[in-house]
Amino acid sequence: MELSRRSLLKASAAALAGSIAYELSGQSTAFAMDPLGEWKLEGTEERSTICCYCSCGCSLVCSVRGGRLIGVEGDPDHFVSEGGLCPKGAAEFQTDYIVDPETHELVENEARITTPLVRRPGSDHWEQISWDRAVDEIARHIKDTRDETFETTNDQGVTVNRTQAIGFLGGSGMTCEEQHFINKFARMVGSITLDNQARV
Ligand code: SF4
Repeated sequence: MELSRRSLLKASAAALAGSIAYELSGQSTAFAMDPLGEWKLEGTEERSTICCYCSCGCSLVCSVRGGRLIGVEGDPDHFVSEGGLCPKGAAEFQTDYIVDPETHELVENEARITTPLVRRPGSDHWEQISWDRAVDEIARHIKDTRDETFETTNDQGVTVNRTQAIGFLGGSGMTCEEQHFINKFARMVGSITLDNQARV
């Protein structure tokens, strides 16, 4: 069958009209909307944060209601990412919610770690501690270890002013600025062991 330009246009218009009539007739869920229902982000507060997954530092706008995360999207006003997110950043909602493999419903991610954890020498389990206590304990360990192991000269009498007992490991989740400060801090302490998981 030959199809002229005119008959093609007529057929397309008829198909479009039929499609719109079908959508408006309520048969399709694509146009379904509950006029009394809440919009997803209604009543939420916006909190700005930085993606935790890599050092690009893309910015996120988190919509929060009642202390729970409702939505995550890229921040169009941020100078680094201008609203863009890679698939990992776009899936950041899953730090808070996951799909239950049995019910396929969104449920709270109970594996999410929200406090510092410490495993004491000889212990077989991790213990939750507060941020203040974690900072105090880390500071105490660094000071004691540095005092016990600091070397002012090496075997040949050359001045070294170092400790070989403390190492620092950066990570791709840190921003360039955080890594810069860790570097400065390590030099200040006298550590000569610095590495980064992201260099592999
Ligand atoms: S993981 Fe993706 S969204 Fe997150 S900072 Fe890196 S590039 Fe940006």
